[in-house]
Amino acid sequence: MSQPPLGGAGGTAASVSSNRQAVVSPALEAALACVEGYVAAGTCDWAHWSEMWETCRTYEHAELEDGLFLEEVQSDACTADNWTALRAKLLAPRLAPVVLRDDCHGDSTILQESSANGCYALPAGAGASYVDVAIGKAVTLHAGADCSGDSVTVETSANLCETSFASGASANDGVRSYRVQDVEAPASPYRYTCSASEPACVENHNKRLGAINKKHTVKVVRVTYAGRSTPSLSDIRNNVRDLYSFFGVASGGQVGLEITASQTVEVTSANCSKAKNQAVQKARSNAFLTVYSMPSGMCSVSNAGSNRVFLKGGLFRDYAHEVGHVLGLAHGNTRNPTTGEVDHYGDSSTYMGSNGSDNYNLPQLHWLGWTKKEDLVQVNSVVDNGGTVDITLRPVGRNAESSNPHPLGAVWDIPGTDQRLFIAVPKPRLNGSNQIEGGTVFVYRAPKCVGCTGMAMGTMVMARFGAESVNEHEVQGLFIRPVPPNDDYVVIREDGKNIKVFNSVTLRIRR
Ligand SMILES: [Zn+2]
Repeated sequence: MSQPPLGGAGGTAASVSSNRQAVVSPALEAALACVEGYVAAGTCDWAHWSEMWETCRTYEHAELEDGLFLEEVQSDACTADNWTALRAKLLAPRLAPVVLRDDCHGDSTILQESSANGCYALPAGAGASYVDVAIGKAVTLHAGADCSGDSVTVETSANLCETSFASGASANDGVRSYRVQDVEAPASPYRYTCSASEPACVENHNKRLGAINKKHTVKVVRVTYAGRSTPSLSDIRNNVRDLYSFFGVASGGQVGLEITASQTVEVTSANCSKAKNQAVQKARSNAFLTVYSMPSGMCSVSNAGSNRVFLKGGLFRDYAHEVGHVLGLAHGNTRNPTTGEVDHYGDSSTYMGSNGSDNYNLPQLHWLGWTKKEDLVQVNSVVDNGGTVDITLRPVGRNAESSNPHPLGAVWDIPGTDQRLFIAVPKPRLNGSNQIEGGTVFVYRAPKCVGCTGMAMGTMVMARFGAESVNEHEVQGLFIRPVPPNDDYVVIREDGKNIKVFNSVTLRIRR
């Protein structure tokens, strides 16, 4: 049952899921029919994911690309028996960011859902015992009506049977009203707005910057099963620490780590999805991020849900990839400029591909709020009027603080679409993490993502060429070529080879 919000900001429309009918477009219908072909053949599974993704063009539909379908396939839930229910689940509107439930766990009956910010009443007699809170929202639970009286604020899902108000009284069954707000982003050079007098400024539409850019509470859960090995707690914690030192550098110190607890839980089933469920039940975590390290050989893939990741092994890049999903990133894909063929996961300039990497790519760093205003230059105001722009870029590398004055990327909003191109130089030099030569130019296509939630920032490499290439490269009507000589590099000798370390690359851009 739903109640209207009681005024306050955004108090006009309580988005409550009274109507779960979905309108299915013909293109989405076709994609689902294509997936159903895989279901019927028994191949809607992880082994066929890339093929299905490309053949059925599932990536064109938010309903199939926000992470839910991926998670279901990875959990072996895309079967003939399950298809009717799964199809309905994929088409159903996603749960609102704030959900109140009637029992002390996250699977219990939904009492009420809220999307818009504002103050909401709970129906008389409805005893709330659990609240789901999506990343980016803060919920203040009140003992009194109209968001008054004793209160407690939570920014992650919370079991109210273990939560107290400020007075010390239990919040279980004691909530009469609650206020939903956005987690505010603290002031920083990375938080900016673009004014009308700044045509080169690149707008960031991510509403969750405040929740992402802070100290994260992380709980580590080592899942064990008789007869199988699991990485040790100290190995798992070391990976988590390495992950957050990567975040610390790439985010300019905005993201930090607070490990709240480590726990070992034993499961009694060798079935991956049953074992995960058992582990979640036993861990009862309300951390911003919970890392489940699974026994070896039990799960065929690592995967991510909201606020949690399941790792099948101890590879650092799996940590960076799965936690990237939690932070709102989708996959790094590549497209062959000649054939148009899409390689799912093919972008090695991001951990969100399947290859080795050492960072996320520039559109993803921007989405996370890890670039400053002066790091990106919007070129529409020049090139859309027939002009040509020469721009000198510094390589992204680890996105460490740098005295190099050049920006990281040029951005062109593709007219008439909700997508934009990012032109960047991912690497100063070739290193052991992937095969990208220093100075190589990447042109990414990314959504502007107004209103995106979930695993949203998926990218497509549309072109890739060397700093010393002499050709002009066309991407969606934009022409880009290196401006010779592009010799702002030093050569170092390493392992008997000469390696160019680029300081900058200059490009000429026109329509
Ligand atoms: Zn993934």
